[in-house]
Amino acid sequence: KKSDRESMLIVNSWAQQYFTTQLYEHVEGKTVGLRYFAERGFREDTIRKFQLGYSLDKRDALYKEATKNGYKKEFLEKTGLVIAYDNGGVNDRFRGRVIFPVHTLSGKVVAFGGRVLKKDEKTAKYVNSPESEIYHKSNELYGIYFAKQAIVKEDRCFLVEGYTDVISMHQAGIENVVASSGTALTQGQIRLIHRFTSNITVLYDGDAAGIKAALRGIDLLLEDGMNVKVVLLPDGEDPDSFARKHNASQFSEFIKQSETDFIRFKTRLLLDDAGTDPIKRSSLITDIIRTVAIIPDNIARSIYIRECSAMMEIDEQVLLNEVNKIRLSKE
Ligand code: ATP
Ligand code: MN
Ligand code: MN
Ligand code: MN
Repeated sequence: KKSDRESMLIVNSWAQQYFTTQLYEHVEGKTVGLRYFAERGFREDTIRKFQLGYSLDKRDALYKEATKNGYKKEFLEKTGLVIAYDNGGVNDRFRGRVIFPVHTLSGKVVAFGGRVLKKDEKTAKYVNSPESEIYHKSNELYGIYFAKQAIVKEDRCFLVEGYTDVISMHQAGIENVVASSGTALTQGQIRLIHRFTSNITVLYDGDAAGIKAALRGIDLLLEDGMNVKVVLLPDGEDPDSFARKHNASQFSEFIKQSETDFIRFKTRLLLDDAGTDPIKRSSLITDIIRTVAIIPDNIARSIYIRECSAMMEIDEQVLLNEVNKIRLSKE
């Protein structure tokens, strides 16, 4: 219902302000939350811009305050800000965490992410709002509201994994950046980016999971006719940690130097992996041919076929035939 959605947005907007107030005015927020952000190197203007906050380490601090201010349990529950139990108990979802509000393209807060202050094995590092009438995770991108102008201006969008990657890159002066928030990219998220640019550079974490995720999500981007590049960060780094060790111009320079066309990146990666084993090589070639076959533009596709033929040392005509076979079978 439209009125339900409106009520949920109003509750979220109130909650965002509440979390920010706790961060700046509550003694726990100041000593724990602000200190955490300071230790991560987040500046005051950055914290304000992204409307970051803090949730008290209490069972139902938000619920009590919300109720006192006339917000109904129904909408607090629907947005996922509280969890209501059958026995009548109500708990806050976010407790003792720093808060990252998730904004839509037009700046409405539809969800929150909360990070624990100290990572241990027992607690999940991030807790996120659940799917709801106003929050369909697969159609949102963290940071899009703050990035859209810069994406148009630069005619490029950087895609990263996490909240803090977006924030640290902004702070380093790179504002055309959004996060998929740790999940595989969806068609809806790609369409959102494609409204502003066709050029996307994927900057996933420099660990095995990051590389895997990069390989997984990208066929969808190609299908949509996007030009995709990849930057592989040094092992163990993510854009946030990298931004903290390097200044803005070093970061930009690193991107410029290591940005690789996606298909070239994938081909090289798979070739290295396969070595000289003929069975592995032929299965990798099939894999790459499938990716190339996805590219909608005829000219772009034929350029890639030529390049892959050189890299894989396979006759160009053979590759072309295979690509065409796949394309015909999909018609
Ligand atoms: P930090 O720098 O604070 O450790 P990160 O963004 O580098 O965070 P990653 O482990 O790289 O964290 O995860 C990337 C993104 O995936 C996170 O920003 C978050 O959106 C999501 N994520 C990570 N862990 C979880 C979790 N346990 N539950 C839900 N989402 C998660
Ligand atoms: Mn990671
Ligand atoms: Mn990370
Ligand atoms: Mn990180």
